Amino acid sequence: MDTSPPTLERWLTGPRISALPVRGAGTKPPALSFEFMPPKTETMEHQLWTCIRRLEPLRPRFVSVTYGAGGSTQARTHATVTRIVRDTGLVPAAHLTCVGASRADVDAIAHSYWEAGVRHIVALRGDAPAGETYAPHPEGYPFATDLVAGLKRVAPFEISVAAYPEKHPQAASHVADLENLKRKLDAGASRAITNFFFDTSVYLRFLDLCLAAGITAPIVPGIMPVTNLAGLRRMASMSGISIPDWLMHMFDGLDEDLETRRMVAAVVAAEQVRLLQANGVDEFHFYTLNRPDLTYAIAHILGVRAELG
Ligand SMILES: Cc1cc2nc3c(=O)[nH]c(=O)nc-3n(C[C@H](O)[C@H](O)[C@H](O)COP(=O)(O)OP(=O)(O)OC[C@H]3O[C@@H](n4cnc5c(N)ncnc54)[C@H](O)[C@@H]3O)c2cc1C
Repeated sequence: MDTSPPTLERWLTGPRISALPVRGAGTKPPALSFEFMPPKTETMEHQLWTCIRRLEPLRPRFVSVTYGAGGSTQARTHATVTRIVRDTGLVPAAHLTCVGASRADVDAIAHSYWEAGVRHIVALRGDAPAGETYAPHPEGYPFATDLVAGLKRVAPFEISVAAYPEKHPQAASHVADLENLKRKLDAGASRAITNFFFDTSVYLRFLDLCLAAGITAPIVPGIMPVTNLAGLRRMASMSGISIPDWLMHMFDGLDEDLETRRMVAAVVAAEQVRLLQANGVDEFHFYTLNRPDLTYAIAHILGVRAELG
């Protein structure tokens, strides 16, 4: 026998979800930061700067520019970051990796950033070229912790580091990875930014573990608005990120329908951020992939408004 309550009673007594943030209802817009990639061609340069100009009025706390291993994008990262300092009101953070470089080379790049007015570095180990196993440069900083300490010797940079709610794929264990994160923060980093994730409960459990390990710095969630499932699967499998069934289901049948995929992507990311906000998190880092519209729309939904002038 069906013992569930009649429809109207079920509607009126069932679980409630919170409404979209209402202006003046005590909800402060979250603090945002945006990640960009250095451009490889003139067309991509134009796309990047269109993206930067579109997002600039949202007054993010900082914008970061990624850094490719092995000299591939290093000059472009430097050029992009220094142009952000020169031509915009944004605060840039330069990603810097230690893979494949001597300490002297890394220190020289850090010095040049400091001289150009860059005060924030996202300090990373980086990865070995595809198919190779990571090995430290014989005269280099072996891991990100060593890089953080080295950067602090160069200048009093603000430093962010990477965190992995689902564990870094090469870490011996979750505990070892957490200890590594704590070492990076103890060496002088003031915040961690996470790899992207979709299972919010995994991130929230990770925060509990961080706190239990004595970490008090913010572990800012990295949010990736997703429109391209094939690209996502590739990135996720390289970095050990799980893609929940519900996310696959969201995009079922939309392979040939980019417009709907983009609308779904905005809702999924906004919902993820709102769920995190409901759990107390009020800082978010967006992986923009140099495309501003989704990030702009999600920021707008969250109550962030452009400040012109
Ligand atoms: C927010 C964010 C931004 C990123 N930006 C870039 C970028 O711009 N350019 C780029 O190339 N990559 C970037 N990455 C990717 C990053 O370089 C890779 O994930 C890399 O594999 C690890 O970098 P890490 O700084 O976390 O390394 P580390 O913190 O050094 O850790 C790397 C691995 O080594 C282990 N480990 C650390 N210390 C020791 C030790 N003493 N002995 C044994 N094992 C140890 C750790 O547990 C972990 O498994 C980014 C990642 C994130 C999350």
